[in-house]
Amino acid sequence: MNLSSADYLSYGLGTPDFVDVGEYKVHRDVVPYLEKLSALVASHGFSLRIESAYRSFERQLSIWNRKACGKLPLLSAEGVPMPVPSDEEELMYAILTWSALPGASRHHLGTDLDIVDANACPENYEVQLTPAECDGMFAPFHSFLDQVFGSDSSFGFNRVFVPGRGKIRPERWHIAHLPTSRQLLDKFSLDALRHIYENTEIACKQVILARLDSLAEEYIYPYFI
Ligand SMILES: [Zn+2]
Repeated sequence: MNLSSADYLSYGLGTPDFVDVGEYKVHRDVVPYLEKLSALVASHGFSLRIESAYRSFERQLSIWNRKACGKLPLLSAEGVPMPVPSDEEELMYAILTWSALPGASRHHLGTDLDIVDANACPENYEVQLTPAECDGMFAPFHSFLDQVFGSDSSFGFNRVFVPGRGKIRPERWHIAHLPTSRQLLDKFSLDALRHIYENTEIACKQVILARLDSLAEEYIYPYFI
């Protein structure tokens, strides 16, 4: 099997034909709805700015592997840097606290965006994408989005990582164009993901493969909405 074929696009592999929106790549079908959402928030004084969109398998794998070897800081559930556990299973769950499994990140789809209100950003402020920002400088933006997502005029967008759903921490800044992502996720197969891992140099490989069914129940399928 050729992992760069179009069959593996929804796992972040291959070369997707996405549209450039600023410096980010976004799925072509999402763009007209994103323009509508941007116009709506702009009419209420906000400026929707993308902080992250499409991310490839390679990029997610690099984050994963660098966290596993301590080249990127590994953070505890409280957001405090922690030592790299020597036990592989402990290490895997520690990475999963803040990072998606490569191949199973919704950012592979090109339908999901991390967004902020550029109008609320102080000059030269480097966005971190944290709950504290959402409750602080971006709070008015997010409460406006709450209203939009609770209405019929959300153009297909909604949040994915919300309290009470799966084991991934809530991420208010992460929105998805659900009608487009559903089409892509329809074709998702855990067997294909297993095949990808078997052919990839990924940290904690043995324990990921051994626990893949339960990982999917906790970290993947709850977000197929
Ligand atoms: Zn995100």
